[in-house]
Amino acid sequence: MVDWSGGNDTGKSPRRDAIWACVARLGRAEAPQYLRNRSVAEDWLARLFEAEIAAGRRVLTGFDFPFGYPAGFATALTGKSDPFAVWHWLEDRIEDSPQANNRFDLAGEINRRFGGRGPFWFNGLKRDIDGLPRKKTGYENPFPDRRLAEEQAKGAFSCWQLGGTGAVGSQVMMGLPVLARLRRRFEVAVWPFEQLDKQIALVEIWPSLTLGAAPEDQIKDAWQVREVARTVSTLEPDALAEMLAVDAPEEGWIFGLGHEDRLRQASAQPPRLTNDCFALPPGVHWTPVQEALALLQERLSPVTGVEHLPVAAATGRVLAEDVTAVRSNPPLPNTAVDGYGFSGGKAAGVHRMPLAEGRAAAGDRPGVVPSGTAVRILTGAALPEGVDTVILQEDVTVSDGHIAFHGPIKAGANTRRAGEDVAQSDIALTQGTRIGPAQAALLAAVGLAEVPVRKPLRVAVLSTGAELVEAGEAAAPGQIFDANRPMLLEMVRRFGHEPVDMGRVPDDRKVLAERLHAASKTADLILTSGGASAGDEDHVSALLTEAGAMTLWRIAVKPGRPLALGMWAGVPVFGLPGNPVAAMTCALIFGHPAMVRLAGGAWRAPQGFEVPAAFQKNKKHGRTEYLRARIREGRAEVFASEGSGRISGLSWAEGLVELPHEAAEIVPGTLVRYIPFASFGL
Ligand code: AMP
Ligand code: MG
Repeated sequence: MVDWSGGNDTGKSPRRDAIWACVARLGRAEAPQYLRNRSVAEDWLARLFEAEIAAGRRVLTGFDFPFGYPAGFATALTGKSDPFAVWHWLEDRIEDSPQANNRFDLAGEINRRFGGRGPFWFNGLKRDIDGLPRKKTGYENPFPDRRLAEEQAKGAFSCWQLGGTGAVGSQVMMGLPVLARLRRRFEVAVWPFEQLDKQIALVEIWPSLTLGAAPEDQIKDAWQVREVARTVSTLEPDALAEMLAVDAPEEGWIFGLGHEDRLRQASAQPPRLTNDCFALPPGVHWTPVQEALALLQERLSPVTGVEHLPVAAATGRVLAEDVTAVRSNPPLPNTAVDGYGFSGGKAAGVHRMPLAEGRAAAGDRPGVVPSGTAVRILTGAALPEGVDTVILQEDVTVSDGHIAFHGPIKAGANTRRAGEDVAQSDIALTQGTRIGPAQAALLAAVGLAEVPVRKPLRVAVLSTGAELVEAGEAAAPGQIFDANRPMLLEMVRRFGHEPVDMGRVPDDRKVLAERLHAASKTADLILTSGGASAGDEDHVSALLTEAGAMTLWRIAVKPGRPLALGMWAGVPVFGLPGNPVAAMTCALIFGHPAMVRLAGGAWRAPQGFEVPAAFQKNKKHGRTEYLRARIREGRAEVFASEGSGRISGLSWAEGLVELPHEAAEIVPGTLVRYIPFASFGL
């Protein structure tokens, strides 16, 4: 996306009102480029087009100025209604250098052909130009003031106005010649005048169509091109095609006009993951668990969209942004106990004070208590003016309209300061926090009725293997029941995501490919089990490898075989081993944190703790081992068999013992790390 300029060279250091451009792919924007003049911009665009054409990629290139003038102008100027005739007419006559250009003179020349009072107006130069009005007084336009597009786009400027804040006329005059040259040099299609059947498309944009004000600390033009590029690059091909289906053969059109809501929605979408996001450094054979986790943490980012929900409907969701307190908690100083309030601390000894009329209870508007008197006050009541200290009712005797008590008592005793919990405008909860009951209470307490949260992560679960039949169906000899699917679906649900049951597929690539496709249309992540290694019947890894987007992660872990991590149609795929014990362990150790990240949560290692072992084991160096375990009498017991086919052991266990990468000799009493299933959200 390019933000054009009709002016002169803007100097070495980045500034606003220069030319700015930004490249984005799949919702990820690169750094905005500062292009100090049109010749630099033209070179930059040419180099970009060359590189993208060579790489076989398509480029939708947006420019923020009209590609055509209001109806009738092209014919009047060139004898043809063809907008490109205007492009060439201008290209032949515009003289452009970084220091100066002839746009105002040329505008005057055009005006003189049509009576000398329009269509162009505004003169940025000191000297007068014959036929070019400086202001709209005396201005007469033989053509429509606006194109059909500008009639619909609220706030858009007329292309006849050559200067003043927001004007676009100069950009058109100084931009079209550059586009005309690029069009000759490269195979490009210009929207909406031509079929978009070339690798490069030129499209008219207007960032203000959907963007609000730029953040204060950023250069507006840089921010705008970045936002538009990011947004347009997230659009699905179908949506893009719909937005591009426009008929405006002479005047041109503004991309997205009439689809503003859809664009705004798209701009709230997070970027998709790239195809190489699971690539491993070359030469790696067995990756230690901690390194594999660090890689996942680094590579994965949230993939779910954002919506605003009332707090009651937002529980179970993850905060998409930091949220700040609308009101302090407590909003006013108040009393923590039932008792009597007065002003100031009191020294040791007996005190007697007259009791004021009435009382202060929770919910009362704070009144005033005369100095030297005490007031009856009840827990939660805002402190009346003249009260900053409260004495417990149990420590007081009341008689004859007076209270009596023993000092000393400190000033401020038994009261809560305003905002002592959370002050107004403080961050109440940070982005990535999952909203549970406690968080719902806090949000409500600080006056947040609605919060920005991530949409639920949809996780497709798919079992693969010719041997699998559904539990309850007749099983032929050699067949087994699909145990992984019910397990993984429930794990996903308990992790707080939305499981999508994609059933079973036999060891058949075509069927598997179709199923992955169906899953990629509805889910944000696909979990498969089985067929993930490098054997003859390991079709998950074979297919993903064919698609060019898979890495077999050989992780030094037991139980577990390689994890096949890849991308299918832009959706990450976690290929878990088929073995139920390995599938569950890998889903806990690698799948759980990965899902937290994709769902927008904060990365966190599962909380384990050291307990004495109730078992004995010699562990070899070179891999991390997870044993099915539970705590009994304060010691970690492990399941009798480490055999990874023992599904019953998963059920027996309540957590995992994690034995680190290094060798270890464990005897009863040795401290080992125990991670309860609850630490993973199970
Ligand atoms: P694989 O990873 O496909 O080589 O499978 C490894 C082992 O796990 C084989 O013994 C499979 O039969 C078994 N297995 C694969 N998928 C499942 C499943 N969904 N339920 C139970 N066992 C499975
Ligand atoms: Mg298999």
